[in-house]
Amino acid sequence: MPDVMDATRASEATSGGTQQVDVAVVGAGFAGLYLLHRLRKAGFTTVALDEANDVGGTWYWNRYPGARCDIQTIDYSYTFDPELESAWKWSEKYATQPEILRYLGFVADRYDLRRDIRFGTKVTAAAWDDATDRWLLTTDDGASVSCRTYIMATGCLSAPKPPEIDGVKDFKGEVYFTGRWPHEEVKLAGKRIAVIGTGSSGIQSIPLIAEQAAQLTVFQRTPNFALPAHNGAAPADRAALLEGDRVGYREQARWSLAGVPWPQQMAVSWQLTDAERRERFEQAWAKGDLVYILTQLWADQAVDVEGNALLAELIREKIRTTIKDPETAAALSPHDHPFGAKRPCLDTNYYATYNRPNVTLVNLRQEPIKSITASGITTDKRTFDVDTIVFATGFDAMTGAIMAVHPITGRGGKSLSDVWADGPQTYLGLTVAGFPNLFMITGPGSPSVLSNMAVSIEQHVDWVADRLIAMREAGFTTIEATEAAQAGWTRHMADCSTLTLHRLANTWYTGANVPGKAQGVMPYTGGVGPYRSICNEVVSGGMLGFRLTGPNVAEQCNDGEIVRLQPDVRLVLNMLADMKLPPIESFGFQGARDFVAQFNASRPAGRPVGEVVDGTLPGPDGPLPYRLYRPAAPGPHPIVVYFHGGGWVLGDEQSDEPFCRDMCRRTGMIFVSVGYRHAPEHRFPAAAEDGYAATRWIAEHAADLGGRSGPVMVAGWSAGGNIAAVTCQLARDRGGPQISGQLLVCPATDCRFDRPSYNDNATGYFLTRSLMYWFWDLYCSPGDRTDPRVSPLRGKLEGLPQAFVVTCEFDPLRDEGVAYAEALAAAGVPVEQLNARGHFHSSFPMVDVVITGASGRMQMAEALRRFAGLPPERRQSDEGVPGRTVSPHEIAAAAG
Ligand code: NAP
Repeated sequence: MPDVMDATRASEATSGGTQQVDVAVVGAGFAGLYLLHRLRKAGFTTVALDEANDVGGTWYWNRYPGARCDIQTIDYSYTFDPELESAWKWSEKYATQPEILRYLGFVADRYDLRRDIRFGTKVTAAAWDDATDRWLLTTDDGASVSCRTYIMATGCLSAPKPPEIDGVKDFKGEVYFTGRWPHEEVKLAGKRIAVIGTGSSGIQSIPLIAEQAAQLTVFQRTPNFALPAHNGAAPADRAALLEGDRVGYREQARWSLAGVPWPQQMAVSWQLTDAERRERFEQAWAKGDLVYILTQLWADQAVDVEGNALLAELIREKIRTTIKDPETAAALSPHDHPFGAKRPCLDTNYYATYNRPNVTLVNLRQEPIKSITASGITTDKRTFDVDTIVFATGFDAMTGAIMAVHPITGRGGKSLSDVWADGPQTYLGLTVAGFPNLFMITGPGSPSVLSNMAVSIEQHVDWVADRLIAMREAGFTTIEATEAAQAGWTRHMADCSTLTLHRLANTWYTGANVPGKAQGVMPYTGGVGPYRSICNEVVSGGMLGFRLTGPNVAEQCNDGEIVRLQPDVRLVLNMLADMKLPPIESFGFQGARDFVAQFNASRPAGRPVGEVVDGTLPGPDGPLPYRLYRPAAPGPHPIVVYFHGGGWVLGDEQSDEPFCRDMCRRTGMIFVSVGYRHAPEHRFPAAAEDGYAATRWIAEHAADLGGRSGPVMVAGWSAGGNIAAVTCQLARDRGGPQISGQLLVCPATDCRFDRPSYNDNATGYFLTRSLMYWFWDLYCSPGDRTDPRVSPLRGKLEGLPQAFVVTCEFDPLRDEGVAYAEALAAAGVPVEQLNARGHFHSSFPMVDVVITGASGRMQMAEALRRFAGLPPERRQSDEGVPGRTVSPHEIAAAAG
């Protein structure tokens, strides 16, 4: 390929001591090298600047004993050039630091990259000039750089964190930092060595240091989970997959959740027996693959504290069986965070090392370090004299290396450290509003450290390079994220962070390891594939959320928020869209029922409850089936009469099974799901009358059902919410039964179709406007539709039981639900309303699929417990609320 850059060599274009280039890249590691290659190939004059004296980035600095990658090396490689892939062969499953550094040197040589890298050059400040639309980078070697585009390829874990321990300077022995390990040989043999820190760096280095040291003392503040790497040759099965279909293998990685091509696990922990779970675990343990164990055992391990706890305990069991001294084993067993919420480690002989006579573990939770002295380390119980201290104390992650260039001054003199004072704000983890033409590779807000970095780096580099090429072709010279797009991304990040358990641990992912740092989950937890599709949508949406300008073209700004749906709702809707299903109503009512039955069969089964009992109860026109869900705790329990969704046409007493089970578990109440009659065989008012009759019978037989005597509660979703609301009105007007509260989830409340949500959400959100028309036509003649038994919004609302009304932003029924809540409030009924942002009509019944619905269900359960006069019950896993609860006061005010 002719080398465009030969004609435009960056080093030649200097003026007045300032090097002039199109693009300046900070960092010459994995990201910087690929950037340089792509940008030069595209004809941009480019320079890379790196403080190090050679390429390698993190692999240049982290030379401590035992340093290796912990993503299998066949996955931790560049994939942009098939010839490069065949020109390099890794020698091990997990390559050592020297081998990875050799690989990066090989890449630099192969593409002749070094000639445009200024080594030993630290960028000390960066300033955007509004007059010239260029960045000026100041360096510590005096030669500044003027560039149109400034790209930070500085890595996520490259700014070592100070140890924050008094007296380090007083120590007279040798001090080493794993993240800045010397290039010359470090003599450890026969020394008394202290290692502080038991993250990946500590865990990798401790076994090798122990082999050489006379005495090794490990100072541990927080135990971490570590799994055996079982290093060796690349596993034959993975290598065969790669060799069999290299393109497909790489593509699968790009669209996977973690950037490694493992399939998505569907089985959930409670579907597996103890023996099955153990078997899966043992297989994973033997495999020695971090991503495998993090993603392949059972689907709920990463998203649910209970599913996670099962795995964590199996790992702790391994720790106990490996370490001979029970006290040491206990100290090394993590209990303070879910597995995977803090970065777990891959080890070689880590736990077994503590069986060596020359190794001692000091549990800093029991005896914190007081200070470092001239001769060693003093805790509040003992003094340890040592010759060498190794700090494996980690990094100011994600933001540290970016902020190390200080100040970075954007438009109007705005400083990045001010903008990020409360935590990093980005659009896509790639750009920051107010900082034109600044890009970050794997910046905070992108999957980065929660993924195979090689995959995420390539995706970012390609995205940025392609944008720069497209801008040049269109005549644009600046690109800048809008504030609205950035605020939307921040919201989406927060929504994503409720999906996983990362928010539940104090880690470098959240900034908790650096005293005084703003805290929040910094990497994007929504997955590599979904993130890639979002970045692509930004482009196909006309650079949504970016303002582009150029000297001879009209400004372009297609402002907006790229993701308004909850992340898992987006996944479900995309999956449904990919299925290209015909409209459900086109199946006919029997075909639609079969479809729903099939659809429900493919979803995760509901979680275990104490007991499930099927029965029948007398309806107005013959027996009605019901399914009763009883909590495991001893009764009698309050009773909730539940009506399923399905537009009065579809579903049955079992069709909302996961929802009923979930609510039974959350509330500690009996849920009785009633199989009311369906249209078109039984048209209006059959469903309403069945609902009322069933509630009456259940209330009268509460004790026989194992429930608490007295008032019952009603609940329902969609058409079931309609029946629940109608039942309350009928019970008030017909002298009972007594109902203490109503939970209406996305209820149909009125026969009008002209509210905005019917238009806004007419298509694309599974429940369509035309499907609702069809349901209404099958159930109710036009002349009957204003009857309060089908349009409860038109009934008298005074004197109804207190209510909790749930509406979803992307639901055609949203506005009639809101209208009902407001009308109840106006009629003096105590009511709370949850406006579930980013959710669709089916979000809440899709338990364990739409995980972000959990916090909404938690609020529903709290409402039911309040209705029943029970105290609230919070579960740690459900913190974070993707919606807003509106108080009775606010609803009343809105209604007024
Ligand atoms: P780390 O995971 O942040 O671990 C730092 C350790 O030092 C923690 O155990 C921490 O305890 C402890 N520590 C920090 N300050 C301390 C203090 N003042 N007193 C006592 N203990 C202190 O850092 P890391 O081990 O360098 O790893 C960082 C990340 O780099 C890893 O999570 C991984 O993503 C990456 N990495 C990868 C590899 C690889 O295999 N590819 C190797 C090394 C690193 P607390 O937990 O209580 O804060």
